[in-house]
Amino acid sequence: MYRLRLLAGLTKSARSILLTVACLIGIAVAFTGAGRDIDNQVREQRYHYLPKKPSGDLVLVTIDTPSIKALGAWPWPRGRHGEIVAALDRAGARRIAFDVIFDQPAADPQQDKLFAKALATTRTEVYLAALLENLANERGRHEALPTAAVLPYVTPVSIWVQSDADQYHRRVPLNAPVLGKHLPVMAQALAGTHHPDDGRVLIDWSYWPYEFPRISYSDVLAGRFPRGFFRGKSVLVGWDAFGIGDQYSVPFHRRLAGMYIQAAASETLRAGRPIELGDGPALLAGLLVVAMSLLFRPVWRYAFLAAGMFALAPAQIFVEHFTLLRLDVGAATVALGAALLATALLGIAQAMLDRITKSAEAGLPNLAAMELNERDPGVTVVVCLRNYVETTALLGFAAQGKLLNKIRDRLILAAGHERIYQIDNHSFAWRSTEEVPEVVASLEGLEALFAPGVQVDKLTVDITLHAGFCDEITLSVQDALPKAVLAATNAINRGILWERYETDEDEVFWKLSILNEFEQALGRGDVWVAYQPKLDLHKKGISGAEALIRWTHPDRGFIRPDRFVRAIEDAGRIEKLTLYVLERAIADFAPLKLSVAVNLSMRMLGKNRIEAPLRVLLETYGMPAEKLTLEITESATMADDQGFAELEALRAMGVNISIDDYGTGQSTLSYLKRLPATELKIDQSFVRQVLTSRSDAVLINSTIKLAHELDMQVVAEGVEDQQVLDALARMECDIIQGYHVGRPVALEEFRAKFLPTPKTERTRGRARRAA
Ligand code: C2E
Ligand code: CA
Ligand code: CA
Repeated sequence: MYRLRLLAGLTKSARSILLTVACLIGIAVAFTGAGRDIDNQVREQRYHYLPKKPSGDLVLVTIDTPSIKALGAWPWPRGRHGEIVAALDRAGARRIAFDVIFDQPAADPQQDKLFAKALATTRTEVYLAALLENLANERGRHEALPTAAVLPYVTPVSIWVQSDADQYHRRVPLNAPVLGKHLPVMAQALAGTHHPDDGRVLIDWSYWPYEFPRISYSDVLAGRFPRGFFRGKSVLVGWDAFGIGDQYSVPFHRRLAGMYIQAAASETLRAGRPIELGDGPALLAGLLVVAMSLLFRPVWRYAFLAAGMFALAPAQIFVEHFTLLRLDVGAATVALGAALLATALLGIAQAMLDRITKSAEAGLPNLAAMELNERDPGVTVVVCLRNYVETTALLGFAAQGKLLNKIRDRLILAAGHERIYQIDNHSFAWRSTEEVPEVVASLEGLEALFAPGVQVDKLTVDITLHAGFCDEITLSVQDALPKAVLAATNAINRGILWERYETDEDEVFWKLSILNEFEQALGRGDVWVAYQPKLDLHKKGISGAEALIRWTHPDRGFIRPDRFVRAIEDAGRIEKLTLYVLERAIADFAPLKLSVAVNLSMRMLGKNRIEAPLRVLLETYGMPAEKLTLEITESATMADDQGFAELEALRAMGVNISIDDYGTGQSTLSYLKRLPATELKIDQSFVRQVLTSRSDAVLINSTIKLAHELDMQVVAEGVEDQQVLDALARMECDIIQGYHVGRPVALEEFRAKFLPTPKTERTRGRARRAA
């Protein structure tokens, strides 16, 4: 149950969960930089597939292997650098930068002088690298400007580059402090830009290093270069020989000499300083996509989220290729991925929940859904459709659906809300916040709604319903529902519309107050007698009725006779009840000239309390004794002699004696012979099984034969359909009693339904249910 609640909670707040997950994950990724790998990967794709041609304003002079071969091993005499400066100056270079460090005086001071002289006489601006080491590590700090001999003629620039945690070089700091001075990076000098801040520039590696115009140092010295090759150009002199100078890891191009970092950075700056927007914009767009996806049905939501996720990388490539904006899409991609995953998981949760909480037949919410949803106090009501299963078996699948919908609509009307649950294939339940009398009224209304039948595809389906409810309103559905079902089952067995579940406390209280209440009820007229017709199979007509006591309590409604009869017997006041029924039955049936049967409690036998008053009653109302039958239940308690004696006396008066509920007690043949019985009533439990149980059929058949041998007539009670009636007729049963013939009803109704009126010979109509 706990897990089910969790599941329901998840699916209920699916949308906000989705949005929250996307937000939190997106922000977390943006903050921790966990999405950087995605951005780096996407950028590498751009560098690979969308290379840019360098402008050509930057020319590289490389101290390469051919130069070493031609000019000898490094270090070269510094005068040679003076020569190349002079040569470049003559060739019309705009500016010259050396990515070579001259921080120490040369071993031969003459060489420094030569270099300085060349620098002093050139018109071209010359930039020399200043040294800045181990910025991060204070102890190993070693900063240096170009050596004093040349410093007056050059502009020192920083060549400081920084790698990311993965050792790749993606950005260069625009400026760096060297010995208290704020020096621009060499790339700025080469590009001619003057960004004064401490920001870093994201190098655009789509300028492929070896695409820059390039020439060997030795060739320049020897004058082997095209005319105009250097005219108006920025010239970068640096190492690119195997074994000399540092190698740096860079995206896509793997390992490169430091000068290429300056070259690419310079080309980047020349095109305009990139504006890094970070994760923000893409993340916002991504969250917007998530929010919009909530407007779609889940199936489309996946597509929308996935489309959003996969559109991010191309968007980044497109924007970065055509504009100076730099977007990070890592966080947004992860956020959308998380939203997709969450959608999938929530989808699974929803499917599981549906599986658990919907009935297999009609997709109506089921028992689990009821336990989940109905947690407020209330009366738990169960309605069972008695012939529903048989009926639907005859209908097609589509018609079944329609029937179920119509039934549901009626239940909604009765319940007053839409929360109807199908708890098995023919029972429905709901929780009501109304008081018991209102619940009863709505059940009666429901019965009236079903009375004309349910119309499905031009077919009228007859549905009989029975209900039970438990009004211990604080009980959970789990606890209350079985009680309501039990009450409904009792209602079915007893053929009544509804029954209330009664607790043991009710029982105790009831036992204490019943006597008093019963006396009052007699006085108020809440107690009355119902008559159930008996069909004589020989005369083929109604020969009489059984009188059954009824008590309609103002608060409790209908009270089952077997319950209060027992209670009154226990209280020792059964005479009053019996005499009341006897008087009513005799008074009602004497004028009809029909027989009537009255149930006689065993406790009354053997005390000589019945014979005298009965004689008076028969005389008063003018009923012949043979029109009256006394039904007694076979039981061991009456096996005392006084009991037999009293029965003998009654029989002697001419009254018929019937053995009720035959088959349920432990009667012996000798006992049967000893009783002065004229009739045997086979118990309902056997009669119902006559078609389905062979042993019961045999038992009934032999009982009928035996009873006839003993000159008794046989009554079968609890006959509910024609097939059972036919079977009993074939076994030569004499009298039939049961709902198929008629239910117990008030005298008026009995007369109207079962007795031929002088004018119209009425046939037996649709049996109304008696309360
Ligand atoms: P019982 O004497 O066996 O009465 C027959 C019961 O079966 C009645 O229930 C009747 O309504 C029911 N019944 C008849 N035909 C059918 C049928 O086709 N299907 C089904 N499902 N039920 C059928 P009721 O009226 O609720 O009475 C229950 C019991 O209460 C009686 O059982 C009887 O033992 C006792 N009782 C009723 N009235 C009196 C009375 O005036 N005095 C005494 N001492 N007991 C009574
Ligand atoms: Ca009876
Ligand atoms: Ca009976």
